[in-house]
Amino acid sequence: MTVRAFVIGHPIGHSRSPLIHRYWLHRHGIDGSYEPIDVPPGKLTAFLDRVRGGEFAGGNVTVPHKLAALAACDRLDETAREVGAVNTIVRDDGSLIGRNTDLDGFLGNLDAAAPGWDGADEALVLGAGGAARAVVAGLARRGFERIGLLNRTPSRAAALAAGREEIVFAGPLEEFAGRARSSKLLVNTTTIGMHGTRFDELPLATLPADAVVVDLVYVPLVTPLLAAARARGLKTVDGLGMLLHQAVPAFEAWFGVRPEVSAELRDLVVADLDPTA
Ligand code: NAP
Repeated sequence: MTVRAFVIGHPIGHSRSPLIHRYWLHRHGIDGSYEPIDVPPGKLTAFLDRVRGGEFAGGNVTVPHKLAALAACDRLDETAREVGAVNTIVRDDGSLIGRNTDLDGFLGNLDAAAPGWDGADEALVLGAGGAARAVVAGLARRGFERIGLLNRTPSRAAALAAGREEIVFAGPLEEFAGRARSSKLLVNTTTIGMHGTRFDELPLATLPADAVVVDLVYVPLVTPLLAAARARGLKTVDGLGMLLHQAVPAFEAWFGVRPEVSAELRDLVVADLDPTA
């Protein structure tokens, strides 16, 4: 019997997840499907009832459903609870388990692309939305002792830091220069970099020479931030790796095989992101 998985969002046409999961299904000869389904906010509950009924083994959840899915699942794994968002649903005997694989994707990608990256004590994170929650939780898990969290709207950063003020220091983006000096890791979790946008003034020269700069934005693959960091000779890690790595535990949960993030798969997605490359 075909094992079916889904990715739900609204809109959903832009998602690269079908390309990734279908590649692995084909590679492992699995009788399965991975289907993008447009589910408007008002229809989430009805859709999840179909999943409970057995139509799907599970699936991914993307914008705008990640928070609503947290409330709608029957159980949550520790990471989903910690991050406060669900990006993966697994059906288990008629009930829905909400998981979050973004955190594992973030860590797994850095482990692969910049081994030793977590040897530092201090990191700087830009942004305070859903992705920042996963990144901050991941950095705390890896033992970072000081995490600067800078956001256009500082109150959102303060809200995210609440309860862990001993390690997370919230502030406005203008505090960049002061915090960058001692941060060996810079992570952009804002949407800046998409659609031709760029940070107005980010004095990257204040970062240590051995700092690693990570961007979660992957369209374009080389964002203006990554280009500027490269120009300064800093090590950079793009956002596509995180997208690929967060898919690994999800695929394993639905289809029972742990797939690999290979160069061939990455090339396939890169070609899809930029057909002219
Ligand atoms: P989100 O919850 O909507 O948060 C957006 C963040 O961007 C907020 O901190 C927001 O600041 C900031 N922002 C937006 N426009 C800005 C501007 N003009 N100037 C300064 N800051 C601005 O979004 P999200 O879910 O966290 O996603 C953020 C990005 O990460 C997206 O580009 C997404 O595609 C990417 N992402 C990538 C992966 C991956 O696997 N690579 C995974 C998850 C997310 P305010 O609070 O001030 O509005």
